[in-house]
Amino acid sequence: MKKNNIDYEKVLKEIEKEVLPFMCDGEVASYIAPLAGVNPNQFAMSLQFLDGREYHKGASQKKFSIQSISKVFSFAHIMKLYKGDLQNRLGLEPSGNPFNSLVLLEYENGVPRNPFINAGAIVVADMLISYYKNNTFDKVLEHIRLVGDTLNVDFDNGLYQCEKISGYRNYSMVNMMKSFGNIKNSIDDVMSLYFKLCSIEMNTKELCRTMLFLANHGVNPITKDVFLTSSQAKRVNALMLTCGHYDASGDFAYRVGIPAKSGVGGGIVAIIPGLMSLCVYSPRLNKKGNSLVGTKALELFTTKTGLSIF
Ligand code: GLN
Repeated sequence: MKKNNIDYEKVLKEIEKEVLPFMCDGEVASYIAPLAGVNPNQFAMSLQFLDGREYHKGASQKKFSIQSISKVFSFAHIMKLYKGDLQNRLGLEPSGNPFNSLVLLEYENGVPRNPFINAGAIVVADMLISYYKNNTFDKVLEHIRLVGDTLNVDFDNGLYQCEKISGYRNYSMVNMMKSFGNIKNSIDDVMSLYFKLCSIEMNTKELCRTMLFLANHGVNPITKDVFLTSSQAKRVNALMLTCGHYDASGDFAYRVGIPAKSGVGGGIVAIIPGLMSLCVYSPRLNKKGNSLVGTKALELFTTKTGLSIF
């Protein structure tokens, strides 16, 4: 199918119908109390094209917790700021382990495999604090609002507080990394920033807009703002493809075939370079912590349209 001849309204309608039988499969994330309480039976999907066209289905205005999708924002942000090599702080390889796993950290001297698992995003948070010194979260949030051309984005304070007092595994990671000298700032400051970023709330429409620069060589095609160089944008996309779904990244690439990043809030953002950004929301997760219906919807999308990168 030629991409100009695709009836996207029809494709979204078909997807909404075809995911229905899967809507009761999977479980919402229960280890973060406020996430355990969300209505599990929600579905939203948005498409945002470089030329400004947009299509939406389901609850696309409904804000949800972006969780690990924020790892893309913080990594893109640090890429923009740090001109040097990130690699002695952070790897660029898939971990083959769950997002909150500790096992590789000790073997690999406190250097996380990649920026899209929790340990990696915690190191990125530390680097952001080293750069800005004060009000780091506000500066990153300001950047997200600018990239998405929306002021209406903030974090959920209740969820933030909850993760901050119950994120035991994340605290073990940060302590382990600190013992290896790979965390430079106070654990409290680093974890506050990490948890605040996870608790940002957005809807599928806003997430699409905010990620659109990744589909256009680092430049927002609507506002014309330049966020990353073409080569940096390539790198973020490459990492999303290889590491965006933790130990299910290979499976996601096999089924869906586009760069994407998921979060335990039930969102997945995906990029079709040169064409569009997409976002799906459905809070029930599969065993690897990725939206079950979201993955299915994206698989149906690339199958129906032929728009994978392969
Ligand atoms: N806030 C979550 C955590 O730290 C993020 C995990 C995720 O979305 N995969 O565990």
